[in-house]
Amino acid sequence: MIVAMQENATEEQIDAVIEVMEECGVDVHRTTGAMQTILAAVGPTAGLDITKFEVLPGVMHVHRISSPYKLAGRAFRPQGTVIEFPNGASIGGAQVAIIAGPCAIENREQIFAIAKCVNAAGGSFLRGGAFKPRTSPYSFQGLGIDGLKLMREAADAHGLATVSEVMEIAQIEPMLPYVDCFQVGARNMQNFNLLRELGQVRKPVLLKRGIAATIEELLMSSEYILSGGNYQVILCERGIRTYETSTRNTMDIAAIPVLKKLSHLPVVGDPSHGTGRRDMVAPMAKAAVAAGCDALLIEIHPNADKSVSDAAQTLYLEQFEKLVGELQVIAQAVGRTL
Ligand code: PEP
Ligand code: MN
Repeated sequence: MIVAMQENATEEQIDAVIEVMEECGVDVHRTTGAMQTILAAVGPTAGLDITKFEVLPGVMHVHRISSPYKLAGRAFRPQGTVIEFPNGASIGGAQVAIIAGPCAIENREQIFAIAKCVNAAGGSFLRGGAFKPRTSPYSFQGLGIDGLKLMREAADAHGLATVSEVMEIAQIEPMLPYVDCFQVGARNMQNFNLLRELGQVRKPVLLKRGIAATIEELLMSSEYILSGGNYQVILCERGIRTYETSTRNTMDIAAIPVLKKLSHLPVVGDPSHGTGRRDMVAPMAKAAVAAGCDALLIEIHPNADKSVSDAAQTLYLEQFEKLVGELQVIAQAVGRTL
C-alpha cells in the first residue's frame, strides 16, 4: 500500500499517518520528494482497509499496490531515483553514465592505463573485478583486496568512482574502503543472504540480472536490498541465456524500457556480457542508450585479446573512445547527454 501525502501536508500529519500505519503492523518506508511525501507500507497489507488512511488529514491518495515489489516499484518514487557518488557523478539523471574497466584487475600498469582512458573519454566510473566468479575453479580468481587497492589508487588519480563485484558477505567489510558501488553478479542475483546484508550497507549496489531470471525476479531481488533501508540500487541488464548460440547471452534490450516503466531504479545496460563478442558491443551499447538506459557498463583493456578473463568481449581502448563519441549522437537523439 502506498500513501501519497498532499503537497502541503505538515510533518505532524505525516507522523500521524506513519503512526497509524505502524499500528497496523506494517513497516513504513518514507520518501520525500521536492513536491510530495510518499509512504510505502511493507508487510501484511492485504487485510488493510485503505479508506482508514484516505480519511486521515494531509492524505491525498492511497493506492493498493498489487505488484510484489513495493519499494522497487515506480509508484514508490514516481520521479525516479538518482544515485550520487563521491566524485560528483550520478546515475539516473539526464546524463547517461559510463562505467568501464577490465573484467579483472590484473596489475598496476593495466588499471592505471584504463583509468586514464575512462576519464579522457568522459566516463566517471572505473569497474574492475577483484573477486571473480569463474565457471572453472582453475581459471584466474582475481587479485582480491590487493587488486581493489590498485583500482582505488587509479580511480582517485583520475577522479573516478569505483565499482567491483562482491561475492560473499565476508567480503563486504574489507571492500568498503575501496569501492563506491558494490556489484552483485548474475550468478549471485538470488543469493538472498548477500542481498539482505547489502541492504544494511549505505553504498550503492549494482544488481545484475541472473542468466535465467525474469524481470520480476530481478525486481524481487532488488527488494531484498531496498527493504533493509539501502535505497541506492541500480539494476543491470547483462543478457540472459536463451536457445540462441550466436552470442554468449541474449541481450534483452526490451528489459530496459520495461524496467524503467515498472521501477524508479536506474537501469544499466551491459553489452559486454550481453553479447560476449567484441564486434557486437558497440551496436548493443547504442541500442541500450536508445532504449533509455541510465548507464552503460563496458569491459575494456589496453591489450584486450590478452585479458585474463572475458577477452573476446573486451574492447581495446581506441574502440571504446570511438564508441563513446558515437554514443553522444544517440544520447542526444533520445533527450539525454553523455
Ligand atoms: C563481470 O561484470 O565481469 C561479471 C562477472 O558479470 P556477470 O555477473 O554479469 O557475468
Ligand atoms: Mn566480465
